[in-house]
Amino acid sequence: MTHSARASFPPGGKAWPDLQAEMADRTARDADWRGGRTAIFFFLADDEAYQVGKRAYMEHFSENALGAARAYPGIGSMERDIIDYGLDLLHAPDGGRGVFTTGGTESILLGVKAARERHRALGRGRAGAPLNLVMPVTGHPAFDKAAILMDVEVRRAPLREDRRCDVAAMRTLIDENTFLIVGSAPCFPHGVIDPIGEIAALAAESDTWLHVDACVGGWVAPFFERIGRGTPVFDFRHDAVRSISADLHKFGFAPKPSSTVFFRDGEDLDRSTFRLGYWPSGLYTTATMSGSRPAGAVAGAWAVLNHLGTSGYERAARDLAAMTDAYVAGIDAIPELTLWARPDVTILNFGSTVVDIYAVAERMKTRGWIPGLTSEPRGMHTMLAMQHAPVREAWLADMSASIAEVRATQAKSDLAATY
Ligand SMILES: *Cc1c(COP(=O)(O)O)cnc(C)c1O
Repeated sequence: MTHSARASFPPGGKAWPDLQAEMADRTARDADWRGGRTAIFFFLADDEAYQVGKRAYMEHFSENALGAARAYPGIGSMERDIIDYGLDLLHAPDGGRGVFTTGGTESILLGVKAARERHRALGRGRAGAPLNLVMPVTGHPAFDKAAILMDVEVRRAPLREDRRCDVAAMRTLIDENTFLIVGSAPCFPHGVIDPIGEIAALAAESDTWLHVDACVGGWVAPFFERIGRGTPVFDFRHDAVRSISADLHKFGFAPKPSSTVFFRDGEDLDRSTFRLGYWPSGLYTTATMSGSRPAGAVAGAWAVLNHLGTSGYERAARDLAAMTDAYVAGIDAIPELTLWARPDVTILNFGSTVVDIYAVAERMKTRGWIPGLTSEPRGMHTMLAMQHAPVREAWLADMSASIAEVRATQAKSDLAATY
């Protein structure tokens, strides 16, 4: 939204009905997530789970999860349950620990910090040279954020033909100042799971910390495996995997902001924990980077996890898999389109060798869709959740119509891919 002039501080006195009406008016033209119009940003399992998350959130809207230990042991118990559920799901050994965070970015910050602390404690590396982390080009920008904050270098490895990390190329980037290597399950741009087994072998051989970024897949890919999709193993069953980030507010179907980071070892949790002993208000310790944070998010995630449980997530995995297969079949049936990768979970990334795919995306936008784009290769991108199931045929029809227009006009687009 663009402002012509700075808004002045409000005089106050607006009552709720007026505020509600004004908010409805302001958001009337925002994307219709319920109608499956956005390629990302919202994740539906089913309406009942959505309602459970919303109600639980509102029940604990006012409490602050920062005070879980001192004031809100009930909220703390839900947090511990959530972490236990995740450790169980991801096959962490006894002694595994975790943190409930406000999002994937924070989960990643904590993983990177713990890995850096270990590297420092080992006294490794060349003095005077920056530490570095090595990840595929598809690694999430949250690692770059962490690198800026911690003043370390990011080295990006190229991909293989199948758009998974080229582990041989990754090996050449590692040196004595490498404190962390990363694989994704799946990566955001192409939706494929990196060869975690091969990366784990590299991590073991070089005794380097391996973090698996399962922000997308962490809470749902294990259920894809359980329903027999042949989804690759990416979790603590690989001995070298030392930490995993997994977002609840993506395919855990929980309200935002909610994510988790898990550590194989309690010592590594200590390395991610913030402690300050000399503040006038006394010892200040947080497991998170953020201070105050919504207890509603804890309650929402706990309620959704207990509402869906094993049977609900297996059902969601089956529904998501069937929908993804149907979208893939629909794309395969459009001769101008090429899938840039076969999705391991629900992310679609496709383009065209015949028409300018960004010109197609522009026409999809005119038809009321908010498409995602990838720049390398030039493509369109969607992270499918269940709100996309009822609109599949409409989406495919609009895609065909958009392609026909672009073919007829040979249109080119100068759009730039923007996340
Ligand atoms: C979404 C995402 C993140 C970051 O999560 P936020 O919750 O947006 O901070 C990290 N990694 C991957 C692969 C993601 O898709």
